[in-house]
Amino acid sequence: MNPVAFVRESIRKMAGYVPGWQPGPDETFIKLNTNENPYPPSHRVVDAIMAALNDDLRLYPSPDSRQLRKQAAELYGVDPAQVVCGNGSDEVLAILMRTFVDQGDTVAYFDPSYSLYPVLSEISSAREIRVDLPRVLSGVSPPDPPAKVFFLTTPNAPYGFRFPNEWIAEFLQNFQGIVVADEAYVDFARESSLSLLAEFPNLIVVRSLSKSYALAGMRVGLAVASVEIIAEMAKVRDSYNLNRLSQAAAVAALADQPHVRAQISRIIATREWLVERLRTLGFTVLPSETNFVFVVPPAKMAAADLYQHLFERGILVRYFSSPRLADGLRISIGTEDEMGIFVDTIKAAVKA
Ligand code: PMP
Repeated sequence: MNPVAFVRESIRKMAGYVPGWQPGPDETFIKLNTNENPYPPSHRVVDAIMAALNDDLRLYPSPDSRQLRKQAAELYGVDPAQVVCGNGSDEVLAILMRTFVDQGDTVAYFDPSYSLYPVLSEISSAREIRVDLPRVLSGVSPPDPPAKVFFLTTPNAPYGFRFPNEWIAEFLQNFQGIVVADEAYVDFARESSLSLLAEFPNLIVVRSLSKSYALAGMRVGLAVASVEIIAEMAKVRDSYNLNRLSQAAAVAALADQPHVRAQISRIIATREWLVERLRTLGFTVLPSETNFVFVVPPAKMAAADLYQHLFERGILVRYFSSPRLADGLRISIGTEDEMGIFVDTIKAAVKA
């Protein structure tokens, strides 16, 4: 008997999501491959986690992350009943799939965008429509595929540009389905689609605390939408999906806005510095409103070779071998020192 034969056929056939590589504890890399924040979270986060490390760990956490929803609602100017939390925004996306997508339903998204969407839709046995996304947004009209849910990564990953709210409003107006604005990187951008929620009941905004709030290790994300949609999503999530420490950490992180704003400004300043250096060195750099840049090296350098060159010198960046991305690299913004070393290494490679 082969027990694996009992596994759903769709799962056996799928490849599974491949996250960016996480080096082991003894490997020292300049890590620019998974869009983490290079700076630590607010000290208030660590204090809150330490305060939560007590005998109450024997008790289940707040099932609906009550305090966190309240804190997030205050920050975003909505009602707490419009917020649902997840174990990372990845879980929020999975909850969305389970809430809206039955076997055979159609989901759509731009190609390229977040590579988790195809995996989630395969798990749900959904049909998929991939809409080609050019590298320059001007002139691109909102799509209108016959799909139930459209995942709109804004700003886009891995390209980095944002869809303007006017564009998103036109999309929401015409699309006969749910638009999920995956705003994992929006804190680095000039505008969020949150302001469109009041007008468009088919919008769901998904946020992550992994990037701007430097909490990738705690796994906290959330969705903001109408009270009615959030009530349906709440039925689908696990009862205690955020543990006590994550909830405490996230409340403290959202409360310390001066900390997060200062870090965002610092990362944006480093990003702009990097963009200028790379353009001078002959790289094509896509406009970014995120904590990463997508770059295409000068013609004489293949992206895959440059990836290897950097890897051998202790610098990890992200290379995607899919045809639409294989000519470039995605580089997360690290500290000023890290980016200095990165640019020096690139300079040497260009000269070689
Ligand atoms: N959306 C996008 C576009 C992302 O790039 C990521 C990070 N890989 C996520 C969502 C998930 O982030 P997290 O689960 O850490 O909140």
